[in-house]
Amino acid sequence: MKTFSIAIHGGAGTLVKGLMTQELEEKYKSILRLALNKGYDALESGRTATDAVEIAVKVLEDSPLFNAGKGSVFTAEGTHEMDASIMDGKTLNAGAVSGVKHIKNPIDLAISIMNDSPHVMLSGEGAEEFAREQGFEMTDPSYFFTKKRMQSLQKIKDIELRKQHKSLSFEDPFMKNSKFGTVGCVALDKNGNLAAGTSTGGMTNKRWNRIGDAPIIGAGTYANNSTCAVSSTGWGEFFIRAMVAYDISAMMEYKGITLKEAAKIVIQQKVPDLGGDGGIVAIDKDGNIAMEFNTAGMYRAHMNAKGELIVKIYKDE
Ligand code: ASP
Repeated sequence: MKTFSIAIHGGAGTLVKGLMTQELEEKYKSILRLALNKGYDALESGRTATDAVEIAVKVLEDSPLFNAGKGSVFTAEGTHEMDASIMDGKTLNAGAVSGVKHIKNPIDLAISIMNDSPHVMLSGEGAEEFAREQGFEMTDPSYFFTKKRMQSLQKIKDIELRKQHKSLSFEDPFMKNSKFGTVGCVALDKNGNLAAGTSTGGMTNKRWNRIGDAPIIGAGTYANNSTCAVSSTGWGEFFIRAMVAYDISAMMEYKGITLKEAAKIVIQQKVPDLGGDGGIVAIDKDGNIAMEFNTAGMYRAHMNAKGELIVKIYKDE
């Protein structure tokens, strides 16, 4: 039987068991299961790794629970600016989009940029103009409103007011935790092709068209059939500076180390040494999976070698 494999994440952060209700935990797990199963079924039926990534990411983007698509966090102006990217490990072709406000599934636009444009990355109004030309529907911003995300924005604004600075420090624990829920997927299909995709609303209260790592090829997303596919989640500024996804692939390529070892070095040493935190999900060309994070938890799921669906949230599970 030809190997195929898939793993997903729904963000890394201060996920502590005592802070979550059983009911909410079950809600998260059931969406993660649904996304993983849909992606897995696509691979089983012979579809490409890119198709599986698209299918799984869309399930997560359509859920209000995750910080991507429907559940995206608010900017300082009370809008949404979404980022996404995709990479095909066979061709090394890639597509990325940042700062879109009217696209229901940003991962679809990233795929269209990869397949239908001569470019890799489009942003803001230009990206939406391209989307319209490609027949994408423009979604009313009210679709992206969720009460929970509005409350987070209000809470950050209140803290800012109390501290009397304009911009809340990224070191503030609430700020650090305000971005959790970015989503991503990595897949290996029956033809030995790898793909990775990531989608996010970014960081609550972001200003100045801030862009994180999620749409940066090499930081948030990377796939190369000769090494691995990686999707990142965490404190984007540090993931860009550490070039997390590409660094894992490069260490495998140039040092000949395993995916597990490379992921450990980047996530447990390089990113924290800079002062950042977060995690990745990754698959190598033989279907081995790595799920490495240096936070208290990471929403994650994969299918193990026996075909059992494993869903986890906390570190010590
Ligand atoms: N990496 C995302 C960003 O910085 C957020 C996250 O994954 O938690 O925009």
